[in-house]
Amino acid sequence: MSTQVTLIPGDGIGPSIANATVKILEAAGADIEWDRQVAGMAGVARFGDPIPDSTLDSIKRTKLALKGPLETPVGEGYRSINVALRKTFDLYANVRPAHTIVPGGRYQNLDLVLVRENTEGLYVGIEHYVRVGDDPRAAAEAVAIVTRAGSERIVRYAFDYAVQHNRKKVTLVHKANILKYAQGLFLDSGRMVARDYAGKIEFEERIVDAMAMNLVLHPERFDVIVTTNLFGDILSDQISGLVGGLGLAPGANIGVNGAIFEAVHGTAPDIAGRNIANPGALVLAACMLLEHIGDDERASRVRNALETTIREGKTVTRDLGGTASTDQFTDAVIAKL
Ligand code: NAD
Repeated sequence: MSTQVTLIPGDGIGPSIANATVKILEAAGADIEWDRQVAGMAGVARFGDPIPDSTLDSIKRTKLALKGPLETPVGEGYRSINVALRKTFDLYANVRPAHTIVPGGRYQNLDLVLVRENTEGLYVGIEHYVRVGDDPRAAAEAVAIVTRAGSERIVRYAFDYAVQHNRKKVTLVHKANILKYAQGLFLDSGRMVARDYAGKIEFEERIVDAMAMNLVLHPERFDVIVTTNLFGDILSDQISGLVGGLGLAPGANIGVNGAIFEAVHGTAPDIAGRNIANPGALVLAACMLLEHIGDDERASRVRNALETTIREGKTVTRDLGGTASTDQFTDAVIAKL
């Protein structure tokens, strides 16, 4: 039976790279039935809402979405797309792989995955100013919420991911030496979970500042990295930088009630509508989706076709140093399949 997946093409270059991705997956024979929905500016144009209920209802039903980049409308009164998605589907794990595709960069053969806790920590949005005398903004306070349950589930997710993807090691990144309670609870919970995988998956701990340095000096020493929200936000972009930037970076948001796969880049308004966007990041996101539904074989076939096309460099888009259009690049990947 085919798998139903909600497809949100998105704004700007979104529709073009989403069409390219669907074409490539169809050529690979993926058994997916796409339920096309709108969000972002396309959602505002059609329903006056950047994240329409019909789109949320579709994901509630399919529990899976492939999402193009979305433009967040400026102005009061619109709900935040990412907050709505994160809350509705409790998307607690943000998974960002980074591996070398084009050789000759600063590092060779990197293959890292960062698992970021996506619902807790300093990003819960509990902030306020403190008035002192007649200065209403004399100080500001932000609260970090870390729970044992939230910490356990993200570290367990990282270990399960490692097992499923034949990875060897999980590195937990923290700052428990200074934030003894908030980060200490994350570290303690992580250590407890790690015991369940002893003998199967190696476990190590790193303090975040040392980790930032080690990722630059010896990134090849790391495999799966798990950390809290703020540190994960920063380190996930850092590992993308190690393999050449955000251009080919996919991401997955995994939740209790659904999973949403996307390219990390934005809507690229400067090149929208010109048939020159690179669909690679969204194709790699679709490969993560295929793995998520258990179709590892097809995921690796699509990934190989994409990466071989990019490495050969003959028919690639402008951002990769070529002159091919989105359509030509897409056809080249399909020819490789
Ligand atoms: P951007 O990623 O859209 O663009 C940055 C640069 O990278 C531009 O020069 C663009 O042409 C290029 N680029 C990006 N993707 C490309 C691709 N696939 N192929 C070729 N070139 C590509 O970042 P921005 O300009 O800061 O943001 C533009 C809009 O996107 C904003 O409205 C922002 O809010 C939104 N955005 C959405 C998401 C998302 O939905 N996941 C993420 C980031 C930004």
